Amino acid sequence: MEHRPRKRFGQNFLHDPNIISRIVDAIHPQPEQQLVEIGPGQGALTSLLLERVQHMDVIELDRDLVALLEKDFPDNEQLTIHSADALKFDFCQLAKQKLRIVGNLPYNISTPLIFHLLEQRHCIHDMHFMLQKEVVERMAALPSTKAYGRLTVMVQLFCHVEKLFTVPPGAFNPPPKVDSMIVRLIPHETPQYEIKDQKALQGLVNQAFSQRRKTLRNALKKCLTDDQIRSVDIEPGARPETISVQGFVNLANLLATITK
Ligand code: SAM
Repeated sequence: MEHRPRKRFGQNFLHDPNIISRIVDAIHPQPEQQLVEIGPGQGALTSLLLERVQHMDVIELDRDLVALLEKDFPDNEQLTIHSADALKFDFCQLAKQKLRIVGNLPYNISTPLIFHLLEQRHCIHDMHFMLQKEVVERMAALPSTKAYGRLTVMVQLFCHVEKLFTVPPGAFNPPPKVDSMIVRLIPHETPQYEIKDQKALQGLVNQAFSQRRKTLRNALKKCLTDDQIRSVDIEPGARPETISVQGFVNLANLLATITK
């Protein structure tokens, strides 16, 4: 049965065998490891991954694809198919050991999905994702570059980010309009930053980047004064994209102390 790709589920299926092997090689799965694939689709990555691991879990939202997968992969000793929404999925309940999460992600939900996974980072060993190249550039960006923003800070707070390789539109069916890229995210084993109040930090980062062209002084004027900003060695006239991850942590920790 032919499956017609559905745009609303972000379905761009991989069909280039070289790219598929390259992704699986980059993941480098070991037999005993616990792999979880988000959005297996028609199983392009799944079948190759299953050659390398004893068992794997996959999470697919499209019920038609779940039915196809159940037919194509009848051995449920090796593959557990969860007919579910990855955005609401409790990954930690699967974890008998730290999970390796993989997926050619639906691009329309990639940012909220990554935020959802970051909340469960304590049970994740690493993540390998195919994403829009531009999103990977944002995750890996350095301060004072165009790509540096909210996503950069929130991801780098908790993960080491490694850009792996670019994948052209022709590797997919249907081809997306943009280049894609494989990224490796490794949650920090020991926290790199001492965060007093994660919610305050999240709020502050959102606020700071709500209007990129504003100075920090203007973006944060409801919560911090110039003197308070200066007290953590940050110039209030600076633009938010010039502030390092540590700088944001310092500002948020200050805010958490004074609003206590
Ligand atoms: N892994 C396949 C491949 O590489 O050919 C398919 C990748 S396709 C870009 C994204 C897949 O994620 C589709 O199978 C789609 O149905 C599924 N998907 C979309 N939204 C989802 C969600 N919220 N939870 C789980 N899977 C989802």
